Amino acid sequence: MKVLATLSLSIFLISCAAQTTSEAPLSPLKITENLKPYVSVFSPNILLDNALVFVGDGKTPLPNYSVLISDERIAKIGPVGTITAPKGTTVIDLDGHTIMPGIVGLHNHIHMPGVRLMKYTAPRLYLAAGVTTVQTTGSADASGEIELARLIDTGDVPGPTLFPTAPYITGPGGNAVMDSPLTETEARSFVRTWAENGATWFKLYRHTDPDIAKVIIDEAHSLNLKVTGHLCSITFREAAIMGIDSIEHDFDAATDFVKDKPVGKCVRSRGSKVNLDMNGQEIADLIQTLVEENVTLTSTLAILESGFAFRPQADARALSAMSPESLERYKARQLRLIESPSLTSTPDYWSRIVKFERQFFAEGGHLVAGPDTGRHVLPGFGDQRNFELFVESGYSVSQAIQIMTHNGAKTLGVGEDIGLIKKGYQADLIIIPGDLTLDPSALKSTSIVFKKGVGFDPQKLLTDVKGKVGLPE
Ligand SMILES: [Zn+2]
Repeated sequence: MKVLATLSLSIFLISCAAQTTSEAPLSPLKITENLKPYVSVFSPNILLDNALVFVGDGKTPLPNYSVLISDERIAKIGPVGTITAPKGTTVIDLDGHTIMPGIVGLHNHIHMPGVRLMKYTAPRLYLAAGVTTVQTTGSADASGEIELARLIDTGDVPGPTLFPTAPYITGPGGNAVMDSPLTETEARSFVRTWAENGATWFKLYRHTDPDIAKVIIDEAHSLNLKVTGHLCSITFREAAIMGIDSIEHDFDAATDFVKDKPVGKCVRSRGSKVNLDMNGQEIADLIQTLVEENVTLTSTLAILESGFAFRPQADARALSAMSPESLERYKARQLRLIESPSLTSTPDYWSRIVKFERQFFAEGGHLVAGPDTGRHVLPGFGDQRNFELFVESGYSVSQAIQIMTHNGAKTLGVGEDIGLIKKGYQADLIIIPGDLTLDPSALKSTSIVFKKGVGFDPQKLLTDVKGKVGLPE
């Protein structure tokens, strides 16, 4: 019944939008020829009527609420029947549906192993899944990403708004394809050059020298830009004191608990955490430091889950999006996961990752999320999986939505403009058939994704990428 309703809805919208636009006020809203094939709702004024609305602020959802979109913005929000819409408004009856803000993803790569820039598949997958803004959090092709961000902005490519990152920064002994500034001068010059080129964030990788990291952070801050890190050589506490803005992968990447860790050296750390008292002072002290220093933690549960054989692996949607070669790699990897499991990939260790995040959040820490696209964790699908994992971990649906929308926007410095369903905010929001509080997996059935007031059809975007993820682009 839901499917029938959705199908008839989209037919109604296409014809209705065509009838109503001429009567409505003159609109700045435009779509390019490249976007047209993916658009299901296009009208200067759209009333999303009678839905369950999650504002994105972590509070209880609003039942039987309506949202009026005018051009690119949210014009009004109120109980059903209380909104006076302009003449010619396209009205969409959303009885039985949920509305939430578009997802703001903060570890959303545009690359995967073997594909340096997924310029075709990644933007489509993200948008189809309701992800309307992403921070790319490390680039394999930074110039390509910056250009892709521009093409999305001009409407030449359907996709989320991108906050591109400079090339990964690491240090001696680190990944050879990454940049390793060795002196203060080189580090400052790296930051300035990439800032001029259009990078908005910098990402420190596991072998970064602490002195170089401090220079990168200070230089980026002097330009009003931010720094995140997948840390190892630097502990979370050291990075927080240096002024880092955010830290990726939380508990799993922390080397703070390694006894006699050599300063500035990347060392294995899981062993130091398998017997750690999660309710003890060491954890409490670290969380307190992170909260006091205003460090954002980026949860990447979806990719971490892929390393635990006892957890669910790829779902049918991911498998059908993968190229035949990617599928073979996936199957081989699954065999390895079962035949030679990591000794620390246990249910107990998984629960520690989840517990650390929960404690950080409970202490008032600023938690955001991203899938860390890779393996079978695909763009967009991984964000939706994160949502399910948050709810499974004990967050309320409202809290999970807040983490994945408003919190992400705040970290990106755009929390006054996106990430909430509030008057004046950019109309980035998603329509989900069903009640998300009763069924978190309903997010996977998202039927319309609004970005800047234009409604996209997820199915049309997904059809384009079928069997292509992993092919050269
Ligand atoms: Zn990553």
